[in-house]
Amino acid sequence: MSQPKPATQASAGHLLRLIRRGQAGTRGELQRVTGLSRSTVSARLDQLFRAGWVREHAGDPVADPTGGRPAVRLEFDGSHAVVLVADLETRHARAAVLDLNGEVLAEHSGRLLIDDGPVVVLDRLASWFVELLAKAGTGLGLVCGVGLSVPGPVDFGSGEIVQPPMMPGWDGFPVRAELRAALVRHGGERTAERLPVLIENDANVMAYAEQRLGFPDCSAFLLVKVGTGIGAGVVVDGEMYRGIDGGAGDIGHIRLSGFPDALCRCGSYGCLAAVASGRALAEQLTAAGVPVASGSGVRDQLAIGQPDAVRLARAAGRQVGEVLATVVTLLNPGVLVIAGDLAGPPFLTGVRELLYQRAMPRITAELQVVTGRLGDRAGLAGAGAMVVEYLYAPDRADARLGRV
Ligand SMILES: [Zn+2]
Repeated sequence: MSQPKPATQASAGHLLRLIRRGQAGTRGELQRVTGLSRSTVSARLDQLFRAGWVREHAGDPVADPTGGRPAVRLEFDGSHAVVLVADLETRHARAAVLDLNGEVLAEHSGRLLIDDGPVVVLDRLASWFVELLAKAGTGLGLVCGVGLSVPGPVDFGSGEIVQPPMMPGWDGFPVRAELRAALVRHGGERTAERLPVLIENDANVMAYAEQRLGFPDCSAFLLVKVGTGIGAGVVVDGEMYRGIDGGAGDIGHIRLSGFPDALCRCGSYGCLAAVASGRALAEQLTAAGVPVASGSGVRDQLAIGQPDAVRLARAAGRQVGEVLATVVTLLNPGVLVIAGDLAGPPFLTGVRELLYQRAMPRITAELQVVTGRLGDRAGLAGAGAMVVEYLYAPDRADARLGRV
């Protein structure tokens, strides 16, 4: 008796996912994995070929173990569209055009003050995007989506930024609509009116990128970004964990005892961010006689081993470590990545000291505490991956194929 077909959905979007994840790379493998007939697999693949999403690999064919004709390998075609991505910091931004595999086709970074508010910032960003598209030799018509990383909590569903302490004027602002309108103004192509725009918190996006690149097998992953503010991103089973409205990981405003005079941007006193962020350390370092204006100034001093900067970074690491003892006990992650301006040996040493002292040995025994591998590029890489995973997820891919 023949085996029953495995119960599987097997639309073109599902086949695409199998190909993208490396779970099936030839027609034969697609048939075996899905249980679909040869002709059905061919029909589905034709849809993907026509859309330009999948191509037959020009390289070496795969030898057939049964001695038949060698099979041609199928692959996701990362060049059939591009993604626009930007990583907005409080005083600086990066923007890039990426192909769908995350390759940077053109990139720009420069001063952009988040305090200037969304209308000014998004207009400038749109002008950067249009220039970058020209530099990359492409145009708005080939853009499939836009990904923005922002330094505040985001309700991913609505795309609105929710009560961001460090982004005055952005609370509830219609960022998607404004960015699309700015792209139409600068790019002149009305296709921008319908572009998918995905907005996500910076620590979440960085965690997503670092997990995918550096620790793909880690099922519970934590990243803490220590820049102007402090935030954490959590990736569980390869997916960002956002909480019910994007508030998960906003650890910068947990109040510490013992700092009643440290005023935070959120209006409270004694928040972790008011004591141990790059901005807080810039003030402390300036008071110690080493004038610096921001977290990146602290980073420069750390890079040359300035003793006061090293001492303050280690103390900040201990303060963040105190909060993280609770966080890691709750999540039991395999990896904790420290990212942002303060990421470096003194801060990591401080984090480890407190973590190993305050959390149970069982929790920290297998925990790696490390700096990220992508550095300043994590935000762009994560924003790009977020857009591609969203647009090419099976159900959404099928809906889009229907329109191709
Ligand atoms: Zn605060």
